Amino acid sequence: MQDCIFCKIKDGVIPAKKLYEDNNFFVISDIEPKCKNHYLAIPKNHYKLLADMNKSDIKILGEIFATVPKLEKILNLQSGYRLIINQGSDAGQSVFHLHIHILSGQKMNWTPA
Ligand code: AMP
Ligand code: ZN
Repeated sequence: MQDCIFCKIKDGVIPAKKLYEDNNFFVISDIEPKCKNHYLAIPKNHYKLLADMNKSDIKILGEIFATVPKLEKILNLQSGYRLIINQGSDAGQSVFHLHIHILSGQKMNWTPA
């Protein structure tokens, strides 16, 4: 997808260190971390929203969710972590290529604002 930051990172047009990569997705550090450790798990296929995924696409999310816990050493997940998927403007989504935020490395409060 043209003019998509995450597609450009996937293709190497915008440089970013890929901490993990397989056929389905890759993981990078968030450029503006909101937590001690803040990573992004980004599917290689361009989906704007969860609503754009069909039943077979959703299987990719299953693969991602099954893989993330196996990256505990790379992503510092040993003491717990939080996954977030922002969807649309109320949630503050700013990049419209589906991605999963992975937060770790500190105690977190639970508040939406
Ligand atoms: P969201 O607001 O849920 O759409 O999340 C988008 C995230 O992408 C934000 O946390 C940004 O800091 C992050 N981001 C934007 N551009 C880059 C980039 N070039 N490299 C890494 N993270 C980025
Ligand atoms: Zn994209």
